[in-house]
Amino acid sequence: MRLVYLDNNATTRVDPEVVEAMAPYFTERYGNPSSMHQSGALAHKGVALAREQVAQFLGAHPDEIIFTSCGTESDNAAIHGVLNAYPDKRHFVTTRVEHPAVLNQIPYLKRKGYRVTELSVDRDGNLDLEELRASLTEDTALVSIMYANNETGVIFPMEEIAQVVKSRGIPLHTDAVQAAGKIPINLGKLPVDLLTFSGHKLHAPKGIGVLYQRRGTRLVPFMVGGHQEKGRRGGTENVPYIVALGKACELAQQHLGSSIRRMAELRDRLQQGILERIPNVIVNGANAPRTPNTLSCCFEYIEGESLLLLLNDLGICASSGSACTSGSLEPSHVLRAMGVPYTAAHGSIRFSLSRYTTEEEVDFVLEHLPGIVERLRAISPFWGREGAAFRRAV
Ligand code: PLP
Repeated sequence: MRLVYLDNNATTRVDPEVVEAMAPYFTERYGNPSSMHQSGALAHKGVALAREQVAQFLGAHPDEIIFTSCGTESDNAAIHGVLNAYPDKRHFVTTRVEHPAVLNQIPYLKRKGYRVTELSVDRDGNLDLEELRASLTEDTALVSIMYANNETGVIFPMEEIAQVVKSRGIPLHTDAVQAAGKIPINLGKLPVDLLTFSGHKLHAPKGIGVLYQRRGTRLVPFMVGGHQEKGRRGGTENVPYIVALGKACELAQQHLGSSIRRMAELRDRLQQGILERIPNVIVNGANAPRTPNTLSCCFEYIEGESLLLLLNDLGICASSGSACTSGSLEPSHVLRAMGVPYTAAHGSIRFSLSRYTTEEEVDFVLEHLPGIVERLRAISPFWGREGAAFRRAV
């Protein structure tokens, strides 16, 4: 059966050129980069090249790149690292729509006595920069705001955010896991202090991430151990995956212009096709700047999970916005923060494309989706004139 993979915000296929680049580091160049001998030197060279490739991709200096195990580790290292570097400051600012890698640190920080501000978003998923400005105080240790949202693709105005935060001299971290490879990032011009991204969203393997630390940014190491990464992250380097990430960044940079154009064209084709063929659909973040590959829709009066299962029967892989995978029946915190009605948020689906997505795949979805939605609505107690009236009354 054909597989139509439209879940690239969850993870991506590893590029064959990336596999080819990393393979020798399992079998031939398997030394420890810290070792003095030739085998170690070969591994060290691979890591050094990757550091340059990643730095180039971000517009950064190689010594500002710290390799980690994933985006989650980088987010944790940035937040705990800065808060521990400024122990007298007890205020942390973030948003209500962050990934759990940031959001789930809040209860811990509150238990430790931190005051946390969670900035709100409007119906389109946009931040209010005035709310950000007003939240900052002498006691603010760190602001952490994602670059692009994993569920809706909504892009936050990072230049303006940086202006507001840096004018107060406060460290700024951004989780750019969903931005890297989908929009241009140039840290030569964008004054954020710390930036997170993850290999597996960018056609490198799972289990490798980056924390960018601008020169001069104070950070207490999160993983303490050997002298690796200049003492900023202990642990023997995952050489094959670091090499893979370097190659993936080189390819992402090479393909950036064409893949942005291509993904945006296909995403817009999918969005327009859905809106033309299916009534009662809300496109989340439609009026905000979005990453070119992401389409989050609410199909009113049905459950996103049922829709996902029926799409899956046809080999179409997408994801639902609700947190059902975590065992909760609560709809997505992102859509709730945007004020999407509870009942609509339950019917949310995210399609996320990659540079490999084809027009045929998009058309395959458009061929089958309307019939599936119709079938599910036919058995929905909320659909139809009576159902709609009932829904308005509750
Ligand atoms: N931040 C965002 C915005 C994400 O989308 C993800 C993964 O989905 C992460 C962080 C976590 O990255 P990783 O899976 O590499 O830990």
